Amino acid sequence: MQIGFIGTGVMGTGIIQNLLRAGYQVQVFNRTKAHAQTVVAAGAQWVDSPAALAEQADVIFTMVGFPQDVEQVYLGENGLLAHAHPGQIMVDMTTSKPSLAQKLGQLGQEQGVAVLDAPVSGGDIGAKNGTLTVMVGGPEATLKQLQPLMTSFSKEINYFGSWGAGQHAKMANQIMIAGTMTGMTEALVYARHAGLDAKQVIQTLQGGAAANFSMGTYGPRILAQDYTPGFFAKHFLKDLRIALAEAEAMHLDLPGTATAKRLYTELVDERHHGDDGTQALIKLWEEN
Ligand code: NAP
Repeated sequence: MQIGFIGTGVMGTGIIQNLLRAGYQVQVFNRTKAHAQTVVAAGAQWVDSPAALAEQADVIFTMVGFPQDVEQVYLGENGLLAHAHPGQIMVDMTTSKPSLAQKLGQLGQEQGVAVLDAPVSGGDIGAKNGTLTVMVGGPEATLKQLQPLMTSFSKEINYFGSWGAGQHAKMANQIMIAGTMTGMTEALVYARHAGLDAKQVIQTLQGGAAANFSMGTYGPRILAQDYTPGFFAKHFLKDLRIALAEAEAMHLDLPGTATAKRLYTELVDERHHGDDGTQALIKLWEEN
């Protein structure tokens, strides 16, 4: 089986390395060729465009940044669907809009191409260690076909329903993360102001009812003043915007998520820290 992969960033690189380790042949394309160096050195084969990938690969994964990147890769002139062939499978793992997942699913179906939305959770560490959780929407039979392949980079694969349902599940995940990131940041700011040892606070909280992934993963990075992105702040703001737009369409008010969006808007748009990791939220307090 020939596998194609578009997007060799933080997440794509880890996932591709796990596919290669499992013995699959992977052809890759990325907007900036130089950023594919790590996976090419690990054994992936570079191709020059999404079109070339669509002509050769049986299963194509995409893991790009924003919904507009997904549109370009799938719907552009040189994109996947314009060069697809019947029987092919395409899996978008980008965190993107449920409505776009539905559109791609339907357009694919008209061409005999099965498209899944399969966003993931587990961070840069999960991608590297092959322990991601995948949330899937689209034809269930296609997922069954891909299960062995996807197990090479994930520990859990959960099916939610038709196209877009995977993205909706991911939005629920991001609404949860909105709480853990703001909670973790405020807990650390508070602890420091109270004169506590922040490292001891993290260790203690991680052993009790407040334990969570954000604190366990990003708390130590904050203490080390390491703001390199496991998860880009600009991507989290993108997710909060999608989640709140979807909630609004359902006439739902999510004030906690709206607060997180306000804080990340300040961090990304006003203070220009979008290329930092999400843990940089603490800069809103510490730069003052
Ligand atoms: P990233 O490091 O920015 O990777 C995105 C990659 O996609 C980059 O290599 C980028 O190329 C490439 N790309 C963008 N547009 C493209 C296009 N039109 N054609 C070809 N390649 C294109 O981001 P990431 O952290 O891997 O995240 C990817 C997605 O996963 C995002 O939607 C994010 O929200 C989601 N996600 C991230 C995490 C995490 O912890 N990092 C966890 C779960 C989900 P360049 O080299 O030119 O930039």
